[in-house]
Amino acid sequence: MFDKILIANRGEIACRVAATARRLGVRTVAVYSDADAGSRHVTFADEAVRIGPAPARDSYLQGAAIIAVARDHGAQAIHPGYGFLSENEAFARTVADAGLVFIGPPPRALAAMGSKSEAKALMEKAAVPLVPGYHGADQDPGLLAAEAARIGYPVLIKAALGGGGKGMRIVTAAPQFAEMLASCKREAAASFGDDRVLVEKYLQRPRHVEVQVFADAHGNCLSLFERDCSVQRRHQKVIEEAPAPGMSAERRRAMGEAAVAAARAVGYVGAGTVEFIVDADGTFFFMEMNTRLQVEHPVTEMITGHDLVEWQLRVAAGGTLPVTQQQLAMRGHAIEARVYAENPEKGFLPAIGTLKHMSMPAAVEFRRNLDDNGFHDPAAVRIDSGVRPGDAISPHYDPMIAKLIVWGEDRAQAIARMRAALADFHIVGLANNVDFLARLMDNPAFVAADLDTGLIERERERLFAIEIRVPEDMLAAACARVLADEAAASGANGDPFDMRNGWRLNTTYSRTLTLASAHGVHDVLLDYGRDGWRYRHGGHDEALAIAAHDGSRLRLRFGHRLLTASVVRDGDDLHVFCGGRHRTLRLVDVIAHAGERDGDGAGLVAPMPGKVIAVHVAAGSQVSKGTPLLVMEAMKMEHTIVAPDDGTVDAVLYAAGEQVAEGAPLVTFARSDA
Ligand code: ADP
Repeated sequence: MFDKILIANRGEIACRVAATARRLGVRTVAVYSDADAGSRHVTFADEAVRIGPAPARDSYLQGAAIIAVARDHGAQAIHPGYGFLSENEAFARTVADAGLVFIGPPPRALAAMGSKSEAKALMEKAAVPLVPGYHGADQDPGLLAAEAARIGYPVLIKAALGGGGKGMRIVTAAPQFAEMLASCKREAAASFGDDRVLVEKYLQRPRHVEVQVFADAHGNCLSLFERDCSVQRRHQKVIEEAPAPGMSAERRRAMGEAAVAAARAVGYVGAGTVEFIVDADGTFFFMEMNTRLQVEHPVTEMITGHDLVEWQLRVAAGGTLPVTQQQLAMRGHAIEARVYAENPEKGFLPAIGTLKHMSMPAAVEFRRNLDDNGFHDPAAVRIDSGVRPGDAISPHYDPMIAKLIVWGEDRAQAIARMRAALADFHIVGLANNVDFLARLMDNPAFVAADLDTGLIERERERLFAIEIRVPEDMLAAACARVLADEAAASGANGDPFDMRNGWRLNTTYSRTLTLASAHGVHDVLLDYGRDGWRYRHGGHDEALAIAAHDGSRLRLRFGHRLLTASVVRDGDDLHVFCGGRHRTLRLVDVIAHAGERDGDGAGLVAPMPGKVIAVHVAAGSQVSKGTPLLVMEAMKMEHTIVAPDDGTVDAVLYAAGEQVAEGAPLVTFARSDA
């Protein structure tokens, strides 16, 4: 085994590799960009070295610099994780030339599977079933159109070097072919530097089923069963599960054998995934091979009880696979949900920002030997994440926040555990897909395992039917949090005479809390009496008391019930998480805002992390209220920062082209009357 390895990646996969290395007694060197100097993967490794500025091309894609760090720090091998340099043949060769071990397949296997067209040609020879299509070298548009007609519409045009769901066009009829081909080629050239395409039959309601394969350098190659990754948005996976629902033992064996044949055909070594597309009748076709560890590998680990990163390290160090195909067994069902900073309601557009609050469900691990094969009871809830509360999701990298992975005796139990885990996953500060994932877990088609790649589109109406009504429990929880905070601030125990702000005393010790939500404005009447608060709103008239309070977590007595809720405060916004639901309420505090000037101080700090793209003023500039001061760009949108009042600019703290963090002061400013 190696003494020390370098991890050429970031985020959750870097943390995950470091965790296994530590368990095996292998020391780790992490590399990081300027954006990641304080990130979790850096603290997880034994050593960490800065590799360059934030953009990936200047840091995580700097192969030569990474190899130099590995050499200087005595690492014997490099683990590339996924993405970045993981499937880069030239990098794998350079690593070997430097006398180091690339923890991945041999360069020739990377090359063979690097192009979808060449991979298909190889698979054809190995008698692996292919989607009917054309993957030849001749790219004449007339020939491609003729091939499309031969295949039969609808067809899919795919960039030969494509990946990540990019460079694909569905063509439903011949007249659109030429235009779609041109647009696909443009995207392929821009994204992958190569405009070659292939054409294949576009399957209706297919499933994406992939097989995990593993090979060592001693001629052993086996399959660790399949994963179903049909639940996708924009051709990208959101939910992955193992085993694939409805898979018969016979088809599992056939797909496993086809996948092993595919790996053997290219002299594969290490972890790889053979992706198949499965027609409604169960016929399966080779799509492509991913020559690395996949994001979704944990579900396979959960059902087999094996650590695939450990296997990668052992195989790269020259060892043999620890088990044979016959010794491999699977147990139960595992589901992974990818928690992303993205906006499902806006076409799943990636989001950036700061994780002002993040609390994750507790990981539940029970490690009990079950049989002589060393099969462990897997963790019931596992979280792979590369971020901590307070970290930023930057525009530079993939906006994944965490992978939430659950295991159950069967699929129904796994879904139930996923629901519970999502209910405990609380994020405040940026758009995210947690609520969407929770709706997916409740979706009847998903629950019934009626899976295919069009599920999210087809179930649109149900999946995006967002409830805005605020349940009474959640309103009560928000009120309780406000009362608890006021009590804490005044050092009192809820005595209204000790309270400082935001309430109106009258002879009945009544006050009104006004909370605004997407549903409307809620005026809650609270009466303070000897036994605590009385809550009156919308026909409810109940006792409200705080039984326990720990930060954002509250235990309430509401009427005759005990409730648990988490209420996170972000200024005047109250994020209420209760019973698996999440609502945002704004505290409309008339008194607290009465003395404030319009726009006081606000607007001069960066509203989100981004880049300054234009500065319109300089120190000494006289401006009137509303004058544009500077323009920021974040998430491909422009935000103009304007003068909050008439006055003089003292200093402009950033120049055009500079990156700014959320909340960073941009301009200091003196009002005319100050
Ligand atoms: P990428 O490398 O960009 O991920 P893939 O070839 O793996 O591209 O395809 C991504 C997804 O596109 C698949 O999971 C599936 O949802 C869809 N897809 C690919 N090929 C077909 C096809 N022939 N018919 C229907 N859908 C397809």
